[in-house]
Amino acid sequence: MDSLLQHMVDMTGHRDHTMLDISVVSAVQELSGAAYTRVLNIASVGAQKFVRSRACIHAGGVACPEEPQDAGPGEPIAAYPDLERCLRRHDMRAESLGADGLRRLWLPIWFGDKADTCLEIAHADPFTPEALYMVSGIVSVYRNFQNLLDYSERDSLTGLLNRKTFDDQLARMLHAADADAGPAGAPQAERRHQNGEEKQWLAVVDVDHFKGVNDRFGHLYGDEVLILIANLLQTSFRAQDRVFRFGGEEFVVLLRSTTLDNARRIIDRFRGDVEAHAFPQVGRVTVSVGFTSVSAADSPVVTLGHADQALYYAKANGRNRVCHYEELVQGGLLQTVAVNDTAEFF
Ligand code: GH3
Ligand code: MG
Ligand code: MG
Repeated sequence: MDSLLQHMVDMTGHRDHTMLDISVVSAVQELSGAAYTRVLNIASVGAQKFVRSRACIHAGGVACPEEPQDAGPGEPIAAYPDLERCLRRHDMRAESLGADGLRRLWLPIWFGDKADTCLEIAHADPFTPEALYMVSGIVSVYRNFQNLLDYSERDSLTGLLNRKTFDDQLARMLHAADADAGPAGAPQAERRHQNGEEKQWLAVVDVDHFKGVNDRFGHLYGDEVLILIANLLQTSFRAQDRVFRFGGEEFVVLLRSTTLDNARRIIDRFRGDVEAHAFPQVGRVTVSVGFTSVSAADSPVVTLGHADQALYYAKANGRNRVCHYEELVQGGLLQTVAVNDTAEFF
C-alpha cells in the first residue's frame, strides 16, 4: 500500500492519544525525512504557558512516548520564542532557523482559539512546498481524529474527562509516579520525608443537596451549577492532576505526587472557593469531599470505595467539609474489615 495511505490507516486505527501521537510523529518523520519530529504538549497554568514533549522520533530511530520526568508542567514557553509568537498571533504555522543549523517548523493544532498540542519538525534543509502540503494534510487528519478521541473521552456537559477514562488515567498516574521515584529513589525520598511523603490521592466530590437546586430552580440552573463547579475544579487543581465527572453531580479528582498536607490544603481551598462563589440565581452551593491515598496495591474499585466512605462520613457530619479516609479509620470513626485481598466490607 502507498506509504501515505498506510500511515493514515495506522493513525486512525487507534483509540488512545499516546498511540495517535506515536503514529503522527512516525508518519511525518518518514514522509518528510526530518532530523527529528516531536508532539509537544502546551499547558496553561494561570497566564503562563509551558511546553513538554509527549512523543518524539529521531532520524533512523523508533518513535516513543516521553513520560514527564517530574510533576511540573514542563519548560516555560519563553524557551521557544518562535512558537510563543506563533501561538500569540494564532498563526497556522511558524518556521525558525536554530543555532544548531536546523530549521524548525511549528504546527499548532488549533481547536477554536485554543491549541494545547503542537507538532515540531526539525529539518536540515528548507521545507519544500510539497513537504509543507503533505505535512499540513497529515496535521488535519491528526486534528480531526484527536477531536474524535476527545469527544469519546469527555463529558458533554462539563468537558471534563468521563468515567470511561478513569482506570487508564489512574494506571498512568501510578506509572508516572513510579518513574518519579526512580529506581534507587533513596536521596529524593529522604528529602521528601522532611515535609511528609509524596503520594497520589483520589478525591470524590459530591454537591450538597443538589436535588434541592433542581427542585427550586429547575434543571437548566442545575446544569449551570454543574458547569461552574467543573470550571472551579479545573482552576483549583494542577495541570498534572486529572478531573472527571463521574455522572450526575459527582466528580472525581486524581492528585499527583503531593504530601497529605498539600492534598488537604488544595482540596479544602476548592471547597472554600465553591462556598464563596455566587451562583447566578441559585446563590450559595456547597460540596462535600472524601479523599484517600492511592496505591498500586489496591484496585481502583477499592480506592474509590475508600474515598466514597469518607464522603458519606462528610455528608453525615454536616456536609460542606473535606474528610480523609485514612484519618477517619485511624481515629476509629470508620471501620474496615479486610475479607480477602480484593474486597473490604465496612
Ligand atoms: P446530598 O447532599 O446527600 O448529596 O443530596 P443531593 O440532593 O445532592 O443528592 P441526591 O443524590 O439525592 O440527588 C442528586 C440529584 O442530582 C438528583 C438528580 O436529579 C440530579 N442530577 C443528576 N444528574 C444531573 C444533571 O446532569 N443535571 C441536573 N440538573 N441534575 C442532575
Ligand atoms: Mg450524589
Ligand atoms: Mg449530592
